[in-house]
Amino acid sequence: MFHNSLDFARKCDAEDPLSPFRDQFHIPTDASGEPLIYLCGNSLGLQPKITSEYIQKELKDWAVLGVEGHTEAEHPWLPYHEFLTKNMATLVGAKPKEVVMMNTLTTNLHLMMVSFYTPTPSKYKIVVESDAFPSDKYAVESQLRFHGFDPNEGLILWKPRTGEELCRFEDLEAIMEEHGDTVALLMIGSTNYYTGQAFPLKEITHLGHRFGCKVGFDLAHGVGNIQPNLHDVGPDFAVWCSYKYLNSGPGSLGGCFVHERHESNDNLKRFAGWWGHNKKTRFNMRHDFDALPGAEGWQLSNPPILSMAAIRASLDTFAEAGFDNLLKKSDKLTGFLEFLIDALKNDHIRIITPRDPKERGCQLSIQVKNADKTLHTRLTEAGVISDWREPDVIRVAPAPLYNSFEDVFQFTQRLKDVLQ
Ligand SMILES: *Cc1c(COP(=O)(O)O)cnc(C)c1O
Repeated sequence: MFHNSLDFARKCDAEDPLSPFRDQFHIPTDASGEPLIYLCGNSLGLQPKITSEYIQKELKDWAVLGVEGHTEAEHPWLPYHEFLTKNMATLVGAKPKEVVMMNTLTTNLHLMMVSFYTPTPSKYKIVVESDAFPSDKYAVESQLRFHGFDPNEGLILWKPRTGEELCRFEDLEAIMEEHGDTVALLMIGSTNYYTGQAFPLKEITHLGHRFGCKVGFDLAHGVGNIQPNLHDVGPDFAVWCSYKYLNSGPGSLGGCFVHERHESNDNLKRFAGWWGHNKKTRFNMRHDFDALPGAEGWQLSNPPILSMAAIRASLDTFAEAGFDNLLKKSDKLTGFLEFLIDALKNDHIRIITPRDPKERGCQLSIQVKNADKTLHTRLTEAGVISDWREPDVIRVAPAPLYNSFEDVFQFTQRLKDVLQ
């Protein structure tokens, strides 16, 4: 169904109903003004052109209204996070009340563990995938220590088998059969940042719950990239950031999902702040903490509106394109990339990401035999923005909102040149 030619790539772009969205983004250029082949949306998504307008609007309202902007701005700041909820909920397959944008990813992970990692002397271990992103590992290790446990003993790694890169679900089952009675929490990345493997979220959730554990997902590389269907899948919580596939700008705020079943559970411990308090009495400042039902009840502070404005701009763009349409394009775009890499017939490179589109998002991780970082440098010099992970993996992630089939074709041409 694919052909290895520039004409074919251009034909795919011409037939792609989403191709006009590329024009809605700022595409970085080289020194001579040529657009770069940007395949790094898994690390920092590109800037929608409307983002600046959305932020300028809030700056203007602040200039003109001062404190009155909390209630009088066109998008009043007091309930500003609510303007993000519906579109965000669509992207993660949740009910609106299960979702809130707040804080940053690692902060949210800690807040969620305060509520959902409540170990006892006999049931206290945490299972993570072995190549978990460092921040997640530091967070769970520090939670173990905080509760008086030794991470060497309390942390169980779900590892690929020797000589393999991907994690097998049956190995997670084996871990649970052996240790399940002592495990309190399964904390798994939905899509592994290194291999691009998308884990079977529903099976993992059922497995964890069968052993009486809480289950949480880190969607950093999943959100805006796969449909995690959080409500139906049923984890206890999930967290994510908005600057990768969600294109909301460096360090922008993260998101959090708390399943409906916990929405009004007063027995849950939590670290609280005034933004999680009943909206009707928040400003009376006298009442005892009265948690908002649902995910909103975990908010701590009044949020940075300028960052929220960038997220709103991005989510509006996703909504306009339609997430289902984007997922369909993503399948084809990454399938084309895979086809072209295979067509290089180069024995030195190997795709370590799963071949089944259902087990991956848009990212492909390419292992290059005997390579070092100079390969990545040469790719950069050839106008390709990709991502290098030691010891020998190039990660490329064509984002269906702004990457074209031609981008993917040009990338493989340049990769071929650089490998020669
Ligand atoms: C990007 C990423 C993070 C980053 O965490 P921040 O708190 O947003 O800095 C954490 N975990 C994973 C899995 C990531 O991919």
